[in-house]
Amino acid sequence: MKRTPLKRKTPLKRTGFKRKKQKPLKKSWLKRKPPKKKKRKKDWIKTLHNACYKLWKEVCYKKWGRYCHVQRKYPEIRIKHTDVIQVDHCITRANKYFYYDIWNGTPVCSSCNRAKYFKQKSVDRAIEEIVRKRNPGWYKQAVAIDRMKEPNPSFNKIWWIEEIMQDLQGELDRVEGRRNFAKLLKGGS
Ligand SMILES: [Zn+2]
Repeated sequence: MKRTPLKRKTPLKRTGFKRKKQKPLKKSWLKRKPPKKKKRKKDWIKTLHNACYKLWKEVCYKKWGRYCHVQRKYPEIRIKHTDVIQVDHCITRANKYFYYDIWNGTPVCSSCNRAKYFKQKSVDRAIEEIVRKRNPGWYKQAVAIDRMKEPNPSFNKIWWIEEIMQDLQGELDRVEGRRNFAKLLKGGS
C-alpha cells in the first residue's frame, strides 16, 4: 500500500538545544520610543542637515564669490591650486555653533582645503586672516565662543535647523536680489 506523505504546515521544531534565556529588559529601554518612529525622525534630521549644508554652501558661493580666496588674496603662498572649489569652515566643523554660519565659510580650492587639513600653517593663517578682515567683530566673538568648546544642544533639533535654513534662504534672496539690481543698473547705463 502506498502511503501519502504527510504534509506539515509548520516546519519541524529543532530539538535538543536549549533556548537562550532572554535578558531582562533594562529600564532605559522602557522609556524609549518605538524604534521605527525614532529612526524615521533621525532620517528626517539627516535630510534636513544635508539640505541645510547645501544651502549654506550656495549662500557662501554667492556672497563671497566662487573662487579660491587664498589664491586671489595670497598669491605669494606657493601651492598648486585646483579648479575644484569647496567651502572651508574657519572655526572647525567640530563646533556646531558656527557650522552653518556664512561668516565662517570661505570658498577655497581643494588643494588649499587639504593643505589646511594637513596643518599647513600658511594656508590656515591666510584663511583666518580672510575671515577676520571680513568681519573683525564676528571673528573675535566666534573665537571666544569656540574657546569654551561647548556643545550646541540645539544642533539636532528640527526647529533649529529649520530656523537656520530660513535665515540662509533670506540671505540668499538678499544676495541674489542685490546682484540682479546691480545687473539692471549696469544694463541701463
Ligand atoms: Zn587654492
